[in-house]
Amino acid sequence: MKKNILVTGGAGYVGSHASKVLYKAGYNPITIDSLSTGWSDSVKFGPFEQVDLLDLKKLNEVFLKHKPSSIMHFAALSQVEESIIEPEKYWRNNLIGSLNLLETAVNHKCLDFVFSSTCAIYGDQDSVIINENTPQKPKNPYSSSKRAVEEMIHHYSISKGLKYVIFRYFNVAGADTDCEIGEFHNPETHLIPLVLDAVSGKRQHIKIFGTDYKTFDGTCIRDYVHVSDIAEAHLLGLKWLNRGEASRVYNLGTGHGFSVREVIKCVEKVTNENVSVLECNRRFGDCSQLVSSSSLANKELGWTPIRSNLDQIITDAWRWHQNGFYSK
Ligand code: UDP
Repeated sequence: MKKNILVTGGAGYVGSHASKVLYKAGYNPITIDSLSTGWSDSVKFGPFEQVDLLDLKKLNEVFLKHKPSSIMHFAALSQVEESIIEPEKYWRNNLIGSLNLLETAVNHKCLDFVFSSTCAIYGDQDSVIINENTPQKPKNPYSSSKRAVEEMIHHYSISKGLKYVIFRYFNVAGADTDCEIGEFHNPETHLIPLVLDAVSGKRQHIKIFGTDYKTFDGTCIRDYVHVSDIAEAHLLGLKWLNRGEASRVYNLGTGHGFSVREVIKCVEKVTNENVSVLECNRRFGDCSQLVSSSSLANKELGWTPIRSNLDQIITDAWRWHQNGFYSK
């Protein structure tokens, strides 16, 4: 019998890719998603329950119906700028939603918990390669809410028998190589899809947010990781817990950062098109540089980001951009 894995936010970008990896590995991913930002079109690999994590009663019914053996928790609001304007939305949704999930999981003795956290909790670290012990300095409500959920999970592990793998991922990008699923946000705020919009004529130009950072070319540096590699890490994390190993926190990065200008150049190379650029002020809440070591995930989980070179990421994102979309 296939094991049921509850995937919250399974209709979202990373959650849908993780569902595909689970499905291919012989699991049955049960998607829970409110569809506030996700797409029902992206739920292709198992049952779907349209439920908001704030609805404790319905959440309990999903557990009764599907009896999941483990959980992958992706559901969250994740736009930095929006979180600064509407902090209450982020604290309510990300914190209370996660609390409801943890409470229900423990009540149903579903104790292996994989959580999707973020590099944003490290904040500004000027030119340091970040590892799991780097001091955290979240600088906006989004990253603070993620850090708070990490702490909550840890406390549940101490007193309620929960076991967890927390992944702090760096900049997720790219798309499924079969083009079945991909990145689709409305509104779109992420760099690579926006540059591709500029290539395909959906936008006139790409705005560069800040050219006066203390980086080699003045623009922000990020560590881009292929979404399929991130999804694979979740499978490894699940197996780690199911084997009875201890709770862990892992960064998922590549150890290599690219500036905004380098990303734009790479898009121009891959698509063979020129992109019109508009240099703008800094975007509020952005960190100058976020680059991670992935040696711990590599050493303990055996995770290697095999598709995460920038050319490959942009090639896959471009294919999806041209051929894939969701309508509902
Ligand atoms: N960025 C940009 N123009 C855009 C969107 C993003 O210059 O239209 C920059 C942004 O300031 C950041 C980097 O690109 O330095 C990556 O931003 P993204 O929103 O993709 O991810 P984040 O790092 O904020 O999670």
